[in-house]
Amino acid sequence: STGCQAAQSLAVKKGMEQAVKDQGLQEEVQVVGVGCMGFCGQGPIVQIDSESSEAADGLYYEKVTPEQSHSIIEGLKGAEVTANQGDANHPFFSRQFQIVREYSGKIDPEKIGDYLAMGGYQSLYHAVYEMSPEDVIAEITKAGLRGRGGAGYPTGLKWATMAKMPPGQKYVICNADEGDPGAFMDRSVLESDPHRILEGMAIAGYAVGANQGYIYVRAEYPLAISRLEKAIKQAKRQGFLGSSILGSPIDFNIDIRVGAGAFVCGEETALIASIDGGRGVPRPRPPYPAVSGLWEKPTLINNVETLGNIAPIIRNGADWFASIGTEKSKGTKIFSLTGKVCNNGLIEVPMGITLREIVEVMGGGVPDGGKVKAVQTGGPSGGCIPAEYMDTPVDYDSLTKLGSMMGSGGMVVMDESTNMVQVAQFYMEFCQEESCGKCIPCRTGTVQMYELLTKVIKGKAKPEDLEKLEHLCQMVRVTSLCGLGMSAPNPVLSTLRYFKSEYEEFLALKA
Ligand code: SF4
Repeated sequence: STGCQAAQSLAVKKGMEQAVKDQGLQEEVQVVGVGCMGFCGQGPIVQIDSESSEAADGLYYEKVTPEQSHSIIEGLKGAEVTANQGDANHPFFSRQFQIVREYSGKIDPEKIGDYLAMGGYQSLYHAVYEMSPEDVIAEITKAGLRGRGGAGYPTGLKWATMAKMPPGQKYVICNADEGDPGAFMDRSVLESDPHRILEGMAIAGYAVGANQGYIYVRAEYPLAISRLEKAIKQAKRQGFLGSSILGSPIDFNIDIRVGAGAFVCGEETALIASIDGGRGVPRPRPPYPAVSGLWEKPTLINNVETLGNIAPIIRNGADWFASIGTEKSKGTKIFSLTGKVCNNGLIEVPMGITLREIVEVMGGGVPDGGKVKAVQTGGPSGGCIPAEYMDTPVDYDSLTKLGSMMGSGGMVVMDESTNMVQVAQFYMEFCQEESCGKCIPCRTGTVQMYELLTKVIKGKAKPEDLEKLEHLCQMVRVTSLCGLGMSAPNPVLSTLRYFKSEYEEFLALKA
């Protein structure tokens, strides 16, 4: 994927292919490029899967350089390998439970044959030939899947609302406009296993009666876009998309729409406006997109990770899915674990796992024996959870109770050297830049909040400025038109709630 390609994984692959040729091993050794294995901080990663040697099977090398690629191939014949051997049973891997990322890092994302060999598109076949649309919706509802884009709205309920709309033109949209700083879950899924998303969309289309889908993906994800384009072509050629999918009377097409990088276009009504050809700004709801969306037709919008869960739920059943996670948050969640943590990368964990297990066990804690000060979840819409709440289970409701949110899955670890007022200022700067300006509370409020935070950091604020800041946060939260403005105050409110002394220290500078 993109992260490893930036670290020369393509040169590593080329070097290994050359080494296979040089050593005449073409009959025995195949070099396969796969998607993201998740351990981004340690990439590029090379793993050996061997049918002939137990000793070699599962060997795993980290931070492989192009110079080391020959050595890995020579190692298959018993020579010493110069690359760093990693531990494939590391807690970073062993504590994961992969549903959406089950094939990521295992298949070549550019080959539909790899996806089919894993059982790909069988769920679509099962849905179209053995289930009615109502059965599919009932299964998704029973599974308890909630939207993974941030709000956590029940997916089955959304699908059922769409299905109830009168027959006629309907659309399915995959929201791949991932824009939170530090979040790259959707990019990785699209780059590593694009057919899974196409299959999820086709099942959704069948269930709600839509014959056209759009994937709205940000322009900053060129590899994801090119893999999606290839996947769509392959799926059409093999009859999984297009007219009469799988020989049935069902039609379902997918096209890609590339966003221009506005964070607000992740908001569903802004996204629809953007595909519509208008300016990407939100509008008041109702009407909800399920009633009047793209070109005023009923439109179902689900994010990448939500759609990535659909084929496994149809394949394994709602009960299987509902047995994973907690009572109100079923299944798994992908997080991009970043910041001051030893093991950076993507993890997929069952809902309900504690923050401590993620950060300290899987993430290996703070480098150089440092201490965790806070964990920021949910990106600019989320909040900062202090270290004393590390035993909190990670699920929609527990994170909201603490003043943060699940969001789309960004998780940034902060150590004791981090100044929390500066963190709040960073996220506010992001929100004021990304505010579309349509409504006054967000357009003006985010600027005012940013300026107040800057005043605090410069040591020029008075105690009443903190009161003003908090008051402003509440006002912007309650009166903004869309989620961007409603949640922009969260990083400020959560740091005021848990780290007020750091604000007061800046006030003391004035004294
Ligand atoms: Fe635009 Fe902000 Fe208002 Fe949303 S809350 S519509 S981003 S100005």
